[in-house]
Amino acid sequence: MPDSFSSPPPRVLRVAIPSPLRRLFDYHASHEAPPGGWRPGIRVRVPFGRRQVVGVVVACAAQSDLAPDKLKPVDAWLDAEPLPEDWLWLCQFTARYYQHSLGDTLHQAMPVLLRQGRPLAGRMRERWQALTEPGTDDPRLKRAPRQAELLAMLRQHPHGLPTQAIVAQGYSREQLTTLVEKRLAVREEIPLAAADPATEQLLAEPALPLNREQAQALAAIHERLDTFHPCLLHGVTGSGKTEIYLQLIEAVVSRGQQALLLVPEIGLTPQTLSRFRQRFRAPVVALHSGLTDNERLDAWEAAASGRAAIVIGTRSAIFTPLARPGVIIVDEEHDASFKQQEGLRYHARDLAVARAQHHAIPLLLGSATPSLESLHHAASGHYRHLRLTRRASRHPPARLELIDLRGRPRRGGLIAPAIEAIGETLSAGHQVLVFINRRGFAPTLACHACGWLADCDHCDAHMTLHRQPPMLACHHCDKRRPVPDACPSCGSADLRPLGSGTERTEETLASLFPKVPVHRIDRDSTRRRDAFEQTLAQVRRGEPCLLVGTQMLAKGHHLPHVTLVVVVNADAGLYASDFRALEHSAQLLVQVAGRAGRAAHPGRVLVQTLHTDDPHLRLLAEHGYDALAGQLLAERRAAALPPYRFLALLRLESPREDATISLGREAAAMLRGWTGEHAPDVHCLGPVPAPMERRQNRYHVQLLLSAGRRSQLHAACARLTAWLESSPEARRVRWSLDVDPQTL
Ligand code: ADP
Ligand code: ZN
Ligand code: ZN
Repeated sequence: MPDSFSSPPPRVLRVAIPSPLRRLFDYHASHEAPPGGWRPGIRVRVPFGRRQVVGVVVACAAQSDLAPDKLKPVDAWLDAEPLPEDWLWLCQFTARYYQHSLGDTLHQAMPVLLRQGRPLAGRMRERWQALTEPGTDDPRLKRAPRQAELLAMLRQHPHGLPTQAIVAQGYSREQLTTLVEKRLAVREEIPLAAADPATEQLLAEPALPLNREQAQALAAIHERLDTFHPCLLHGVTGSGKTEIYLQLIEAVVSRGQQALLLVPEIGLTPQTLSRFRQRFRAPVVALHSGLTDNERLDAWEAAASGRAAIVIGTRSAIFTPLARPGVIIVDEEHDASFKQQEGLRYHARDLAVARAQHHAIPLLLGSATPSLESLHHAASGHYRHLRLTRRASRHPPARLELIDLRGRPRRGGLIAPAIEAIGETLSAGHQVLVFINRRGFAPTLACHACGWLADCDHCDAHMTLHRQPPMLACHHCDKRRPVPDACPSCGSADLRPLGSGTERTEETLASLFPKVPVHRIDRDSTRRRDAFEQTLAQVRRGEPCLLVGTQMLAKGHHLPHVTLVVVVNADAGLYASDFRALEHSAQLLVQVAGRAGRAAHPGRVLVQTLHTDDPHLRLLAEHGYDALAGQLLAERRAAALPPYRFLALLRLESPREDATISLGREAAAMLRGWTGEHAPDVHCLGPVPAPMERRQNRYHVQLLLSAGRRSQLHAACARLTAWLESSPEARRVRWSLDVDPQTL
């Protein structure tokens, strides 16, 4: 008979498993416990179905709802110490807020190597250091002249040298270990990522003296470094926001804390990084998609241990653990790349707010064109509104000049006044940026005899005509087809490109200005990682040239010699059905315009449009982004849209249209029945076909939930996901829930 006093109670571990199911799974903690005992945050290897998976212990309990003989034991613990607490908290918050499975959230939010069960440890690097003072020759090295030389070299580097650097000088590892055996040198291991800097001095170059607006903004943030203090840094392009980030980070790091800076995907360039690395001697780690799995883990560990003083990364870097968080900064906070559009659909900026609040630290959101959400928070007093109205360089941002496309012949999308202005700018020795938001040669191919258009067989969309290489490609499903010689419908050979993309505009400009280099910058021309940087480096040298590009060119890049920007067509965003389309296209226009005249010469921005009378476009051109944003906020309020109400979107898709619609109807009926009693504030719209109903031969339907109060919206979402998880119909339809969707 077991002794009930000495035998420990049966321990149950509640484990989050990488699965879409929104629940935890109980396991028996029979395996030997980790040295510090079982605690939340420890990874375990457990049997799940027929697989072995890596899960995270979320809670330890005395009992399970399952019968003891139904509980499977964990196979092994993987961490002696729990994963970082701040990270665990953020994942739990994220899973709750976005109504996503906790197991999948934890899985998505950790580096690949941790998902595979590797320990949370960065790689180490060997470093060798001379032990003896320079001086007389050591008698132990009389017969070993190479070793003596090696020792002399080490003595010149008081902080030591890595193995690689020594081997590169022609010495061997054996010679190094011999020196260690003779007690003339030591071998150390230091972390590969973000080793402690050898010097006490934080700044490697002096900070710029701030202008008055900058100084006031920095002082305002500085006032409260020890509490949650959200600030919107609203400053025109080139007004010196980055300089404020640098000086704020300086203050935080010199207090011994860490700074996390999130930048848009397009913004994490070698140029951005070098600006931070040049300024600080403190270790800066970068987290971006170009890292290997090992490098990512190294960086993660350096941040979690506190060695990395500054962490710079794109969207997913919000999930970087920090030992001593001191500030979170989100640059270009309005940028759409902060929202993940698949799987775990989180918004990194919104998580940054939650995280800063949790840590009680300042939060800085920077933008020249803040999101309507952030402007609303600033106007209602939730965020401190800091403005920078003037550029550091002499010239104010250029105004948008609207030019009328109607009834005028176009060449490569451009009309005569634009072509003239381009010619004049080039003759003056300056550079021109032509912005066109479509890659490829032309948006599609059309038959002039019968009106046939090259449509995708799998989507409700046209196929884009490409010339380099020649093909028709669907930008929605990536299907490709050869370009037909004759119309597949009537046999006519009169097939013509319809409209213009970057390739066609590039071709036209090259023939109009044969003496000037034309650089095209879009996803096709920059597939090679370094191609983009190489082109930009060439452009920065300053000879006259033409840049033709998509929004890859619009943001962030400092192009000091561009004095004319031409926007080929401003209209796509003006009349799109999506409720954020106007906001986003206004932001993009202002960002593109911000490329003009950043250095010695003033800039001009020409915007071609069919709708020179459009009231929104006029407001933007005549009074600027802030005026338009005010108007758009008033319209959002009237239409009961965010930021005045909160939305969640259920997306349903399957190869069968009827199955998709009928599940949508059932879900809507269930919800309407339930909200009436439990969440009367929630409105349910739909189901309706998604804007592109057929994509990759699957039918897309959606259901929109809207509420004035988050608590009710979340209750309804929880009800909806629980219902879908238990509904047999929902097994045949793929569904996902998007809380705070960016597009409808
Ligand atoms: P933003 O991030 O607002 O677009 P940046 O910080 O990149 O602006 O600044 C634009 C340019 O102005 C940069 O070349 C920067 O070095 C310069 N600059 C910023 N602040 C100052 C300052 N206080 N004095 C002089 N130059 C400055
Ligand atoms: Zn035809
Ligand atoms: Zn397609």
